[in-house]
Amino acid sequence: MPAYDVTIIGGGHNGLVAACYLAKSGLKTLVLERREVVGGGAVTEEIKPGFRVSTLDHAAGPFSAEVAADLNLARFGLEMITPEVRVLALSPDGRALGIYNDAARTATELKGFSAPDAKNYPEFVSSFARIGRVLAPLISMTPPSIDQPSAADVWQLGKVGLAFRGLGKKDEYRLLRWGPMAVADLVSEWFETELLRATVAARGIYGAFAGPWSAGTSLGLLWQAAMDGSAIGSASYVRGGMGALSAALAGAAKAAGVEIRTGADVSAVVAADSDSPKVVLATGEEIESRVVVSNADPRTTFLDLVDPVDLDPNFLSKMRNYRAPGAAAKINLALDALPVFRGVNGGDPKLRLGGRIHIGPEIDYLERAFDASKYGEFSAQPYLDVTIPSVADPSLAPEGKHVMSVHVQFAPYKLNGDWGTRREEFEKTVIDLLESYAPGLRELIVAQQTITPLDLEQTYGLSGGHIHHGEQSLDQFFTFRPLIGWAQYRTPLKRLYLCGAGTHPGGGLTGLNGANAAREIGRDLKSGKL
Ligand SMILES: Cc1cc2nc3c(=O)[nH]c(=O)nc-3n(C[C@H](O)[C@H](O)[C@H](O)COP(=O)(O)OP(=O)(O)OC[C@H]3O[C@@H](n4cnc5c(N)ncnc54)[C@H](O)[C@@H]3O)c2cc1C
Repeated sequence: MPAYDVTIIGGGHNGLVAACYLAKSGLKTLVLERREVVGGGAVTEEIKPGFRVSTLDHAAGPFSAEVAADLNLARFGLEMITPEVRVLALSPDGRALGIYNDAARTATELKGFSAPDAKNYPEFVSSFARIGRVLAPLISMTPPSIDQPSAADVWQLGKVGLAFRGLGKKDEYRLLRWGPMAVADLVSEWFETELLRATVAARGIYGAFAGPWSAGTSLGLLWQAAMDGSAIGSASYVRGGMGALSAALAGAAKAAGVEIRTGADVSAVVAADSDSPKVVLATGEEIESRVVVSNADPRTTFLDLVDPVDLDPNFLSKMRNYRAPGAAAKINLALDALPVFRGVNGGDPKLRLGGRIHIGPEIDYLERAFDASKYGEFSAQPYLDVTIPSVADPSLAPEGKHVMSVHVQFAPYKLNGDWGTRREEFEKTVIDLLESYAPGLRELIVAQQTITPLDLEQTYGLSGGHIHHGEQSLDQFFTFRPLIGWAQYRTPLKRLYLCGAGTHPGGGLTGLNGANAAREIGRDLKSGKL
């Protein structure tokens, strides 16, 4: 018998979640992480002594409350922070629009922009909340098999169908119509204020190689609503940064008996279709287990780790066509003081600056920002999703000082010239833009960290630098994620499974991919099928 039941390649948050569930069900589980730190996209790193920042992800998906409760993560130090303000949208004319968890409060603020928008906003919010409730069960289920739906598949879908019928005609039509729509069209049907349109639409293109006029981008809003009841990106932080979530998961995993090895770079998966699969480390060490689970993205798994001769050419060709063109970069800043944004004066900073800060004031601005990346350029005026997590969690920086996390789109993986020579030009573009909204910001910077899509691939192991392990478009979604016929965490190799963001329900710090995958793997191992 091999020493382990399960070997998990990658200690990202989904790998750790899967490990926790599998170990709790009595399976001897090993996690192999190539970096010296677990967490994948969910890491907190020090960019200058005393200044700690969530290096990649800066707000959780949100993380599934059910998974957090199942794994008792509070006992292992997890503390979520949910600021009242979800997004503060900045306008170049010096105005700022706060979008709060409280729809009535947002509507009151909108009155200063447009009376019709203030009137429509509460219905927009409640329609997405109703639709989100119907979609919510989908995210924690295994997508049904298209060819041979099981009785359980039919039962699950039946329940969703019933809930759909309960929506009422108006929301039913909305749901059916919105999915394939360009998000620019959807928001224009509801609102006339460009700043509001662009802020809502931004959720549809977050991390995507798409602009607001791309078909199917409304899907991002519907999916966000399924995750947490709102179409607008969530401001959901972890005390201590996102790395504290990974630390809690690692703590829970170890308590359940999981062995975690860092600095363990897997270079190959061998004989995964036989009864004795194994992984080979870059050092040459070989580890056998009953099954292998990959938390790496699908392209890395099948195009780098598995020998092509082990795969059906048809599957291989589909995997080569799986789209994962990275479009985002990160800039993290250590700041000597809290920056002052034009139009955001005085008061408790938590109330205005505690959530996300959106820079991308018009739909056309966002579309132009995307246009650049289609032709291999980073945007001259990028869309920025900014957080200053030290406002809500002062433990991240020395007293009176702050850290700022800047998610930048669009920054294409395939850049004209190369990222090595154009890094400084890119940094200047982003800081110039920030400076135009927060004059004097440049003077406050005491340390800076830039992470390009190439760094995302080389350091964080994301193929193509794609933040979600692959596009989350209609053709790579639900029963199509990562590929049609392979959306149930199983792969053509009977003892190799997937558990990362390249599976349903896609990217984001939710923990759901890991939980769903563990359910399927546990079922196969315990049913004697393997
Ligand atoms: C710049 C950026 C910003 C983001 N912002 C947000 C955000 O604000 N909110 C949000 O919810 N989501 C955000 N995301 C998306 C989020 O990070 C991902 O959806 C999430 O990390 C996926 O988790 P995962 O565990 O599936 O994979 P990952 O976090 O990618 O983890 C995979 C792990 O596998 C390891 N690995 C890969 N190959 C090997 C190998 N050969 N051997 C051993 N180990 C290996 C990697 O090192 C990594 O630790 C962002 C992502 C990026 C890159």
